[in-house]
Amino acid sequence: STIPTITLNNGVAIPQLGFGVWQVPEDEAATAVRTAIETGYRSIDTAAIYENETGTGLGIRQAGVPRDELFITTKLWNSGTRDWSGQAGRDAVLSDFDASLAKLGLEYIDLYLIHWPRPMHGSYANVWQGLEELLASGRTKAIGVSNFGQAELTRLFETTSVVPALNQVELHPHFPQRELRAFHAEHGIATEAWSPLGQGKGLLSDPTLAKIAAKHGRTSAQVVLRWHLQSGVIAIPKSVTPSRIKENLAVTGFELDAEDLAAIAGIETGQRLGPDPTTFDWN
Ligand code: NAD
Repeated sequence: STIPTITLNNGVAIPQLGFGVWQVPEDEAATAVRTAIETGYRSIDTAAIYENETGTGLGIRQAGVPRDELFITTKLWNSGTRDWSGQAGRDAVLSDFDASLAKLGLEYIDLYLIHWPRPMHGSYANVWQGLEELLASGRTKAIGVSNFGQAELTRLFETTSVVPALNQVELHPHFPQRELRAFHAEHGIATEAWSPLGQGKGLLSDPTLAKIAAKHGRTSAQVVLRWHLQSGVIAIPKSVTPSRIKENLAVTGFELDAEDLAAIAGIETGQRLGPDPTTFDWN
C-alpha cells in the first residue's frame, strides 16, 4: 500500500494508518486481523484488556506476511494491586508483557504502551523502568504511553530518561486535542488517535463531512481518516466488515484543501467519547 510512515523518536517507522481491534471478540479476531493484513494494513493495535491477543496472533500468522513488514502494538493493563511507585510495578510490567507476547505467539512486538496513566497511584518511575528494560532487551522495538495528558507526561519526564515514542489518545474532529499535539511536537512524541472515526457514531453522520466527501467522491470515514493523515496523526480505525476494512485503508490519492480543513476545524465539539484519563482507574 502507499500508506505513509512516521519515524518515531528512536528511529523506528510506524505506518500512519493501522487496524484497531478493541471490542473484536477473541474468536473473530483472527479473521478480522487476517482480512486487514490481506487488504494491505501492516499495523495492528491490540491490548491485554481486549482479550483477543490470541486471535490477533493467529490472524497475523494466517496472513503469512513476513514479521518484519508488520508493526504490532499491545498495551499494559491497569492492575488492581499494582503499586506504580514500587518494585512491584516494574515486576508486573515484565510478567504482563510476557503474557501478552505468549498469547500473540510473537518473539517481539513493535510498540508497548502503558494503557492508562492512573495519576492517583503516584510516580511512574518503576513502571517505566520495566518498559525501558523491555526496550533494551529488544523484545519491544519502541515504548510509549496511552491516555496521558501534559501533566502526566511531565511527571514521567521528571523521573525517567527515555522519552515515550508515542502517546495514543482519543482524537477525532470532534475532539482534536490541539494543545496536546503541540506539546507532543515540542517533545518529539508522535500522536496516535484512538477512536479516530468517533466510534462511527455521531461524527460520521455530520453533514459538513458528507459535503466534503461528496466533493471528493469519497465517504465521510475516508475524509476523517484523510484529515488524520494530513494532521500528522497516526490513526487506527476498527471495523470487522471487510468492505469497511478496505474503505478505511483507501485514503490516499486525494487531498483535503484549506477550505475542507477549515470546515472540519469548525465541527469541533470538545466532547470526549471515552472516560477522563485523569480519573479513570478500572482494573
Ligand atoms: P473507531 O473510531 O475506529 O470506530 C469504529 C467503529 O466505527 C466501528 O465499530 C464501526 O461501527 C464504525 N465504522 C468503521 N469503519 C466505518 C466506515 N468505513 N463507515 C462507517 N462506519 C464505520 O473506534 P474504536 O474502535 O473505539 O477505536 C479504534 C481503535 O483504537 C480500537 O479498536 C483500539 O485499537 C484503539 N482504542 C484505544 C483506546 C485506548 O485507551 N488506548 C481506547 C479506545 C480505542
